[in-house]
Amino acid sequence: MRALVFHGPGSIAVEERPDPVPSQGEVLLRVLATGICGSDVHGYTGENGRRHPGQVMGHETVGTVEAGDGATLAGAGLAIGETVTVNPVLGCGDCVACAEGEEQACPRRRVIGVDPGIVSAFADLLVAPARNVVPLPQGMPSEHGALVEPLSVGYHAARRGRCTERDRVLVLGGGPIGQACVLAATRLGARGVVVSEPNPARAKLVRGLGATVLDPRDGDLASAAADALGGPATLVLDAVGSTPSLADAFAASARGARVVLVGMNQPEVTLPAYAISTAERELIGAFCYNREDFASTARWAATVPDALESLVDGSVGWRGAPGAFADLASGTSSASKILVRPDQEEQQ
Ligand SMILES: [Zn+2]
Ligand SMILES: [Zn+2]
Repeated sequence: MRALVFHGPGSIAVEERPDPVPSQGEVLLRVLATGICGSDVHGYTGENGRRHPGQVMGHETVGTVEAGDGATLAGAGLAIGETVTVNPVLGCGDCVACAEGEEQACPRRRVIGVDPGIVSAFADLLVAPARNVVPLPQGMPSEHGALVEPLSVGYHAARRGRCTERDRVLVLGGGPIGQACVLAATRLGARGVVVSEPNPARAKLVRGLGATVLDPRDGDLASAAADALGGPATLVLDAVGSTPSLADAFAASARGARVVLVGMNQPEVTLPAYAISTAERELIGAFCYNREDFASTARWAATVPDALESLVDGSVGWRGAPGAFADLASGTSSASKILVRPDQEEQQ
């Protein structure tokens, strides 16, 4: 099969790799499309150190069931040829977190696309445990299956923040995870959603999802957000994760507000401690998604095809894939989400 192999900072190439063979309990998938994640781009540039030379990345994927033994397929309710997505968080299967469906908290978790020992989804074929293969509703545009993973990150963050229809929600950052947070808050019935995002292309996209967008450079974000929401935010979803974004989160939220930290921009931040203690705000962590949030997002994604259509900027085949990484890394592309499609024909 062909696969996109990462060789070190700024170097990625399409190469032949042996076809993966499913073991007991695993399923072989033919990849239809895999999204390029910000974490893949930062891995490619070497910035985050979370990708390793020789690795095949890719964790936001959709494919069809190609093969698997009958008992495995039947046990997971899968059929050959069915369109599926993959929950890339692989738990050990026998710790407390895994028993609770919270594989993201499993101390021995491995993640497809992140773990260098797993040949992942930027490839023609992918092997995954059957229990991580999630069927997609019939009639759903297949490309949208590649969005389930990032959408699940936003949904899990909003659920961690106990988002309800009573909430005025401020989302910090309008990139793919911020977009997922907007859709999640809307899905949970939030009474208003405002997004802080300076990039005009991203602002336009997020406005199309129904949120009000504010440019944080325009001045007083706190009062502008409160004006737009009809009061200070009761829930903040920080999809940036830096000292300045957290300062905005506390400045622009109500007493008792929940602030969910889902962005991972900085490994260490400085916090305004008294804004947490004296105003009794909560700071809540969110990471990936649990099993149920991923599964329910796969079902929900089929219900909002127009919103999802706007999240995809385009796709490339094998020839175009290395260039897409280079463009995203250099900032010459303002694209939010590019998909790699193994079956896409390209002129070059
Ligand atoms: Zn991702
Ligand atoms: Zn476990």
